[in-house]
Amino acid sequence: MPVPFTKYFRIAGILVGTSVLGSCASPKSAEVKPGIGSWAVEVARQSRRGRASPAPFNGTVAQALLRGCSTRIVRGLSQQIIAERNCLEPDTYVRVPSMPNMTFGDAVFPYLKRGAHDALVAAVRRAPRKIMRVNSMLRTVAQQYLLYAWHREARCGISLAALPGQSNHESGEALDVSRPERWRKRLQQQGFRWLGPRDRWHFEYVRGSRGGSDRHVDIEAFQRLYNRNRPERSLAVDGDFGPATERALRDAPAAGYPVGAVCGGR
Ligand SMILES: [Zn+2]
Repeated sequence: MPVPFTKYFRIAGILVGTSVLGSCASPKSAEVKPGIGSWAVEVARQSRRGRASPAPFNGTVAQALLRGCSTRIVRGLSQQIIAERNCLEPDTYVRVPSMPNMTFGDAVFPYLKRGAHDALVAAVRRAPRKIMRVNSMLRTVAQQYLLYAWHREARCGISLAALPGQSNHESGEALDVSRPERWRKRLQQQGFRWLGPRDRWHFEYVRGSRGGSDRHVDIEAFQRLYNRNRPERSLAVDGDFGPATERALRDAPAAGYPVGAVCGGR
């Protein structure tokens, strides 16, 4: 069974307002709706699994660009953006369940929109003897910015990366897998499109898709977070990745802002 965000609400109620990965707002600051804390709890669980998590990077996103090639470096900020987005569009994403023949890279947020989620689960379950390794799934504008900048600078071996706000990873409708030739046919049968050799790891869900019309919500979520933490330098909350938003993102703390997502707040 797919696990909606709200399943974790009771646990979230205990942890919202604590310093779980710095992604929740203080309970004093505004109303906190279901979903916001559940994201933090779930991601905290993920990061406790397996080996210990490295300490968060204390620099800005611009500084993170110069540190390695993993989008994990902006994980804290990304958790806040996703939680904020969940305030704007509650329960948009569904967690991909643990399956014995699927593994995730350590920078992966294993969430997709419902249609893509159901199609992926069906494809993986129908091939129990094949292992799927997922290297990217749901992405935030902060992650997409790193990938785009690395691609533009011919760093990190990135063959293709969309502009921030233009990727269907940001709308929860795409995934990148290792050894795509093993999965191409099965994913296509379930409604995914393969982009071909120019981005051979990438599959995007197109059956019944709204064409990525809500990718801007990811940027809007960041703009709201920024304005909450830097009220003296307010950004237009328009969902556009213009020069002012790019400057704000470069200046954002990779580990997350002091005040995270707030549902129903400013
Ligand atoms: Zn991709």
